[in-house]
Amino acid sequence: MRIAVLSDIHSNIVALDAVLASAGSVDAVWHLGDVVGYGPEPDAVVGRLRELGAIGVRGNHDAAAAGGDEINYFNTDARAAMEWTRKHISSTTLAWLDTLPKTRTEDSFTLVHGSPRDPIWEYITSMPVARANLATIDTPYGLHGHTHIPICWRSDDGRVEAVSPGDGSRLDLDERRVLLNPGSVGQPRDGNPLASYMVIDTDAQTCTWSRVTYDIAAVQEAMAKQRLPDRLVARLAYGI
Ligand code: ZN
Repeated sequence: MRIAVLSDIHSNIVALDAVLASAGSVDAVWHLGDVVGYGPEPDAVVGRLRELGAIGVRGNHDAAAAGGDEINYFNTDARAAMEWTRKHISSTTLAWLDTLPKTRTEDSFTLVHGSPRDPIWEYITSMPVARANLATIDTPYGLHGHTHIPICWRSDDGRVEAVSPGDGSRLDLDERRVLLNPGSVGQPRDGNPLASYMVIDTDAQTCTWSRVTYDIAAVQEAMAKQRLPDRLVARLAYGI
């Protein structure tokens, strides 16, 4: 089975469609939260995921969009974009976001947005945090997003190592525990503006990361038209 794993789509339908075209035929689509927030097309993104029967988990932006007090912890730009999102999403989108669980288990994988021990908020950005979370999961492999940076944290003989994947990087899923981050579809932050995602092949037992070009200028134009914050518009071109 081939599974497209997508995270932090952030209301960017142009990037999402480019990623889906690049992934080709897949048996399932899993998302790791932050489906909405920042970007200009929350209903289109949720509509596409619903069409595909995608399953996934709740991110801090999804929780805020569904009315949660997570919005109180957002910085000024994120909050402004979230207030816009709350005003513009349809009742169907709202209901779909509201059903997302914080954590789910699928086969050998635990899916979360932030981290297994703190699914909404924790950023896995250091060895100690990765180590603690690798010890928390009940499945061999964990999938997370939230940082918008593609990475693999791997536990090997008591040590934890970080592997930074590039376009086309492939990892064997073996007896070593891993936490895998596909990077962000809609707002990459690793200095590379291309949309990021990964495909898990459960027959070959591999995970492959990919980067995809999309029409960034079109999304920036749509954001400017909706008067979303300038800084959020600008950052898409730099991947920061
Ligand atoms: Zn995010």
